[in-house]
Amino acid sequence: MTTPDKTRPGPWRRQTELVRGGTARSAFGETSEAIFMTSGYVYDTAEQAEAAFKGDIERFVYSRYANPTVSMFEERLRLLEGAEACRATASGMAAVFAALICQLKAGDRVVAARALFGSCHYIIAEILPRFGIETVLIDGTDLEAWRQALAPGAACVFLETPSNPTLEIIDLAAVAELARRAGASLIVDNVFATPLLQRPMAFGADVVVYSATKHIDGQGRCLGGAILGSQDFVEERLVPIMRHTGPAISPFNAWILLKGLETLEPRVARHCANAKAVAAFLEDRPGVRRTLYPGLASHPQAELARRQMDDSGTLVAFELEGGKGRAFRFLNALKLVDISNNLGDSKSLITHPAMSIGLEDVEDIKDDVAQALSA
Ligand SMILES: *Cc1c(COP(=O)(O)O)cnc(C)c1O
Repeated sequence: MTTPDKTRPGPWRRQTELVRGGTARSAFGETSEAIFMTSGYVYDTAEQAEAAFKGDIERFVYSRYANPTVSMFEERLRLLEGAEACRATASGMAAVFAALICQLKAGDRVVAARALFGSCHYIIAEILPRFGIETVLIDGTDLEAWRQALAPGAACVFLETPSNPTLEIIDLAAVAELARRAGASLIVDNVFATPLLQRPMAFGADVVVYSATKHIDGQGRCLGGAILGSQDFVEERLVPIMRHTGPAISPFNAWILLKGLETLEPRVARHCANAKAVAAFLEDRPGVRRTLYPGLASHPQAELARRQMDDSGTLVAFELEGGKGRAFRFLNALKLVDISNNLGDSKSLITHPAMSIGLEDVEDIKDDVAQALSA
């Protein structure tokens, strides 16, 4: 990325915030962050309870609204993203849905890139139209298509870049400018890039969403999600919807994700290095028709990826000669890489058509791929 890092607030550098940001110690002075497994909170007096319920005093009231462990996770991620505010959710899909629904009403129009994670596509194409919201899906790599779709105006724009699983790259700065002119709020699902490799807000995005299930946990343990945006957006739009519809994350899962952030940077760096090596290895193999990785010069948008991402990501997509039968034979012959639909995990995982490169020794991953290709 060549845009200067103007969004990082605070006196500490990024890796320091990732380890320490948001920590709020209890009266016991614990080193590691505490897990506050509590649904509610107690009050000294009836008057204090009344003031808390009315919102006249700031304090924890109920864990559907806020919880100390969840707040620590939100604050650490907020510092990393350089956003004004952050709210955590029970899953990535809860984050995507809340980010959209809190801004939309019947009669609104949503424009989205077509290359989307299956459930994101389902929300846009199936759920929103049931409530009188017009949705338009376009080729996200085609700026002229964005221009035309946004010409009549829109309430929201939704996109993933790189997209799941086809690794299409969308020009964030250009689409943000078109969205701004259309009066639309730009929501970017930044899961594939991780908060470390791409900062959508620096290019003009209004809202960033994550499935924290992926790299932020990164060890296959729990689900989680997050929504980041301006203070106004979070307080006025998002919080009322979240409070009353209840996509709250468990404090235990928030704690796992909080600890996941502490090791995010070294993990993502290693994922990227391994992915780059596997992509280069696949590109030269006989029987591999096409390898898609934003860091390969052969990626159709390699130059754009270099401009807006700090590194090329942790996923590699590839096509084998011989179609689906051959691809399934390859999957079934793998001995190390697991067939699984998660991604960003320390274990290398694969589903047709993309592979999430893990933290194993890259020579073992390449050996496994080589033996399965010749099977
Ligand atoms: C996995 C994923 C989601 C959904 O996240 P969950 O935590 O599984 O609900 C949304 N968007 C993208 C791009 C994803 O990869």
